[in-house]
Amino acid sequence: GAPPDGLYSPGDPLVLLQVDTLESSVLNSSSAWLVEFYASWCGHCVHFAPTWRALAADIQEWSPAVNLGVLDCADIANQKMCGKFGITGFPTLKFFKAFSKNPEDGMKIFHPGDSIEKLRQSIITNLEMHKETWPPACPPLEPASVEEIREFFQTNNVTYLALIFETNDSFLGREVTLDMLQYENIAVRRVLSSEEELVKKYGVTAFPSSFLLIKNGTFSRIPVQMEARSFYTHFLRRLPGVTRGPYAPIRTPDMRIKTTPTPRRPADRSKVYMADLESALHYALRVEVARFSVLTGERVRALKDFVAVLAKYFPGRPFVRNFLRSVDRGLRNMRESWIPYSALELVLTNRKEGQAPAVLSNSVTWVGCQGSEPHFRGYPCSLWTLFHLLTVQATRHRRLGTGPLEVLGAMRGYVQSFFGCRECAQHFEGMAAESMDKVRSVDEAALWLWSRHNRVNARLAGTETEDPQFPKLQWPPPELCPPCHSVVNRRHVWDKAAVLRFLKAHFSPANIFLDYTE
Ligand code: FAD
Repeated sequence: GAPPDGLYSPGDPLVLLQVDTLESSVLNSSSAWLVEFYASWCGHCVHFAPTWRALAADIQEWSPAVNLGVLDCADIANQKMCGKFGITGFPTLKFFKAFSKNPEDGMKIFHPGDSIEKLRQSIITNLEMHKETWPPACPPLEPASVEEIREFFQTNNVTYLALIFETNDSFLGREVTLDMLQYENIAVRRVLSSEEELVKKYGVTAFPSSFLLIKNGTFSRIPVQMEARSFYTHFLRRLPGVTRGPYAPIRTPDMRIKTTPTPRRPADRSKVYMADLESALHYALRVEVARFSVLTGERVRALKDFVAVLAKYFPGRPFVRNFLRSVDRGLRNMRESWIPYSALELVLTNRKEGQAPAVLSNSVTWVGCQGSEPHFRGYPCSLWTLFHLLTVQATRHRRLGTGPLEVLGAMRGYVQSFFGCRECAQHFEGMAAESMDKVRSVDEAALWLWSRHNRVNARLAGTETEDPQFPKLQWPPPELCPPCHSVVNRRHVWDKAAVLRFLKAHFSPANIFLDYTE
């Protein structure tokens, strides 16, 4: 099952990294590393976890040459370290060559969908990029030449050499080579179909196909039912005299801190909780923004717009409103289009020389957004809640507004620039680009966000990111708002006027409760 605080558990065939083990593991290592930096609250990370786990199982045997690891950037203890490694969105895959020196040496790996095969091939391609610093445990992956094969048994003290004949674009030979790397008394090399002399010598007519050469000079085609990785590997591992080497894989010590489980905080679904909203502010401004060591161009603008609507519309407790106004002022005074986070930090943590620090809480407490497991709900839930609230507040303070798109535009900019769930951001941007500019009034803005959120709910209903105790419904459900629903010609229709009335009541200051705030 899932561990208390992340998406992976010590039983998974990969290394669970932490703030104190990341650098010592992946830097100056004799093996390469591929690390998934994730956030446990990110739905796409939840969705990707089974793929990553399956990949880890698939290439377990390669670990002397390349290790797979994971680090949860949502874990407060790891947040700074994720910043140091340049992680700004989730999930991010980074490949570290063997003997990498610095966090910046990690190369971002594009992961095309959920294909284990593509990820495996990408690992091979990256392993091949090692030049002088080839990982010592990694066998040669380049195609064998006639000369190498001719002298093979003179220069290598093994009984068997398996030759895999294949076309240039095939990964089979390299996969089997890596599958066999822990086995002694045997070597595997790929031979390209263009290597005519060898093709002729062994009478090869099919690609892929494979041949076994034995030290005593005999050779024969490897008899397999299918010319495929698992069949080759199965055959080769059972050859007499072939044994598995003494390599012991890196195990994750089960050092998870045994935290007492977070107490369940009973919440009423018809209420909005200030604890969620303040937690969203803290996380959005101090954790998500802090991932960028420098803000430039678009991001500077997005942050200013976001804070400006917060300062204007957030119906917070007086000290929180003061905090937001002072952040807003501080940002307005920053005229540069290039702001290092160190400069922002003073403003965002509200530290003034000689004064008591930060008034806005420095941690998160989920109430209405508490999930039945730590990786459900939480931050994304609170972000939706915050923006619904802001669109509704804009309808109550029309004279303060600058136009119907003020809040939605700020949300769009924030999500695009900072929201760590990058695939969520892409989806949201798709919806925004399609229809946001058709919004003509602040009322329509509140309804636009409501209807797009319901689209997201519909898309995610029944997927693994759904908290079973909080199924994704079209919202508000009939029990919360009977008049919102009606039936015309036996089809369900929303009464938009009723929905708008409901949104205005639900996301009104009078419906925000202070339970669990300090
Ligand atoms: P949420 O959907 O987070 O809703 C929070 C609360 O808002 C609910 O409890 C309810 O009180 C209220 N609410 C629900 N629906 C509405 C509505 N229509 N109008 C007004 N209020 C409503 N996850 C993915 O896996 N893939 C994605 O592509 C994705 N895109 C996202 C894009 C954005 C901009 C955001 C903020 C989040 C996205 N998420 C995505 C996360 C996902 O939408 C949920 O936030 C998350 O799964 C938590 O769900 P939840 O059950 O807590 O309810």
